[in-house]
Amino acid sequence: MDIKQIDKQFVANTYARFDLRLVRGKGSLVYDETDKEYIDLGTGIAVNAFGVGDEVWKNAVIAQLNKIQHTSNLYYSDPCALLAQKLCERTGMRKVFFSNSGAEANECAIKTARKYGADTKGKDYFTIVTLQNSFHGRTITTLSATGQDVFHEHFTPMTDGFVHALANDIEDMERLVRAHKCCGIFLELVQGEGGVTALDTAYVKAVEALARREGLLLMIDEVQTGNGRTGSLYAFEQYAITPDVVTTAKGLGGGLPIGATMLGERVENLFTAGLNGSTFGGNPVCAAGALSVLERIDETLLCAVREKANYIFDELRDAKGVKSVSGLGLMIGVDCEKDAGEIVKACMQRGVLVIKAKHKVRLLPALNIPFEQLKQAIKTLKEVIAE
Ligand SMILES: *Cc1c(COP(=O)(O)O)cnc(C)c1O
Repeated sequence: MDIKQIDKQFVANTYARFDLRLVRGKGSLVYDETDKEYIDLGTGIAVNAFGVGDEVWKNAVIAQLNKIQHTSNLYYSDPCALLAQKLCERTGMRKVFFSNSGAEANECAIKTARKYGADTKGKDYFTIVTLQNSFHGRTITTLSATGQDVFHEHFTPMTDGFVHALANDIEDMERLVRAHKCCGIFLELVQGEGGVTALDTAYVKAVEALARREGLLLMIDEVQTGNGRTGSLYAFEQYAITPDVVTTAKGLGGGLPIGATMLGERVENLFTAGLNGSTFGGNPVCAAGALSVLERIDETLLCAVREKANYIFDELRDAKGVKSVSGLGLMIGVDCEKDAGEIVKACMQRGVLVIKAKHKVRLLPALNIPFEQLKQAIKTLKEVIAE
């Protein structure tokens, strides 16, 4: 049996995989078992921030692997502490809880808001407002936070305490905050899985003001938008807001699983020993990889990210077959006349990996993709879209 057959027989049927088996890669190039080369504009869904097998990242990971691979959270470990320090210094947040995925990072944010509501207003103030068309993860509670009914089907009852506001409509947000006993508001600034659409700045500022006025936590899900992806270290910087909680995961580990829930001033001491935990959370190897990723996301790199993003927007905006281009930085959605699934397949055939978000083609290239490879991939994408 070949690998594809073994996978079909033994791996749970939760993924509709493409007919592609990736075996190795270097930077933004990946290869299948026949040694066919692909330029990767998907990076494992915004995970391989510096592409595949990046030397700096690999050395950081291997150096830690040669020391100790896991300690548990019963003891101190250097990478975990240093990563938390770096995250706080770069964001102005005060403390970090580490986990292993975006969903878990968001679970911690939800716990934070619930305890904050109970502590400041009373136990029945547990409702969190999220947005319609959002995506916050696959656990039952993060699914409940997710404002898309299709994800709830088959798994009811959902966790209590989530209501979903219409994005970019401050009146709808105010209405829901008035109608429920709320503890927080939880948003993606660029909805990723929902179709790569950035929220309006004025709306986000108004939500921040509302949260302040009502004593609600403002929580930002930067699982996908974080770690340089949108052209700033975190997207909230571009919206000029001060969140109380920021979650991130995907690109932070550079390819290893890590989630982080950053806590601001209002909630830095909300948790006490025993109130949350994770066996693998802050794992030294993952944290060492993350530390090396974070250290390299400096102004020079971010400037190059914005330049590449401008290039992609300029190339695609008026291209034949393109209806519109959305997103922020290197998190881009392309709405095309042609079916996105067909475009993904045709690009793959021609050696370019792109992915989908709803009905759009989604681009999430490595932050350091060489310009020549990016140009070649966009040229192919344009040809496929125009056909
Ligand atoms: C991917 C994603 C998640 C879920 O992350 P997992 O690591 O798959 O649990 C949550 N929120 C957003 C915005 C995401 O893009």
